[in-house]
Amino acid sequence: MTGEPLVLGVDLGGTKSAASLLTLSGETRFRIAVPTQAERGAGAVIATLIFLAQTAQNAAPDPAALIGCGVSAGAPVDALRGIVFPAPNLPGFPPETPLAQILADTTGLLTHLENDADATALAEYRFGAGQGTQTMAFLTVGTGIGAGLIIGGKLHRGAFGAGGEIGHVCVDTSSAARVCNCGLRGCLEAYASGVSVLKIAIENGYSGEPTGVAVANAARSGDRAAQEAFADAADKLGRGLATLAMLLNPERIVLGTLAVHASDLLLAPAIASMRRHAWNRVTENLSVVPAALGDRAQDLAALCAYLAQSGESGAGNPPPPKSGASDKTCFVLRTAPHLPTNETGDTINAVSGVV
Ligand SMILES: [Zn+2]
Repeated sequence: MTGEPLVLGVDLGGTKSAASLLTLSGETRFRIAVPTQAERGAGAVIATLIFLAQTAQNAAPDPAALIGCGVSAGAPVDALRGIVFPAPNLPGFPPETPLAQILADTTGLLTHLENDADATALAEYRFGAGQGTQTMAFLTVGTGIGAGLIIGGKLHRGAFGAGGEIGHVCVDTSSAARVCNCGLRGCLEAYASGVSVLKIAIENGYSGEPTGVAVANAARSGDRAAQEAFADAADKLGRGLATLAMLLNPERIVLGTLAVHASDLLLAPAIASMRRHAWNRVTENLSVVPAALGDRAQDLAALCAYLAQSGESGAGNPPPPKSGASDKTCFVLRTAPHLPTNETGDTINAVSGVV
């Protein structure tokens, strides 16, 4: 090996997927991204990921310098088995997809997989707004609300891989509590996700463009319906943060997505609400801050998905990669004989993305 060590990072997103080559210090050396086209089903999505991974791998200046592959998946996962479970944003996926093994077989690289909230928590902890802490939480506040928990410097996945589901704690026990996408009533996500804020603003009488950005701008411009939706979201988010704070006693809580784009509308009232619903002893030295990684979060999350498990004494790592394609890979390739397309729907024949 003559080149600098690199990790192949793969990000499976609901809208876009990407592969990148990253140094251990988080510099991106190559990147390619294409639409996920999840509506085409599991075979097509996995063929896209294989195409992305192979394209990035082929761009490595020294193939021997690739030390492994990390996958950040926007879906429920069993991280230590490298399995992706079905999700509403990934229609047609079988009960278990051995994604880490499929990519390991394809690339010949030891491959580790994490849920994207957990992987982004690791990335913010190592490279972003969580640096310098030992116990922190990262909350996605996007289409849904999820969290990654770092406790004592290590990712806490929970006994069954569902640790940190703060979006589905109950913050409204009234008879008028909203029904959440998960089927429960009164979940934080039903009030404070980006989608929920928009939905509630429309119910309140907001009639502008139906996007999170537009409803935030309307709130800033004095639209009462939009302002009330954000005020309610901030109050409920604060209750969720209070639960998290009382349970975990973190040094820092890092908020992503909506809380970054609309931090002026959400952050201060959410912190005030959290302080009303938790002990002063727990919150007085707790900082609640927006995420810091911006559009680098996905690449760094994939990098950290690899680094975290490779540093965890090897427990649960996928078996060493086999040479040649496995039956699983052959099955996927046979069922999805297509090439991914670019943003405008054209088939990609040649890709370069050195950055
Ligand atoms: Zn729920």
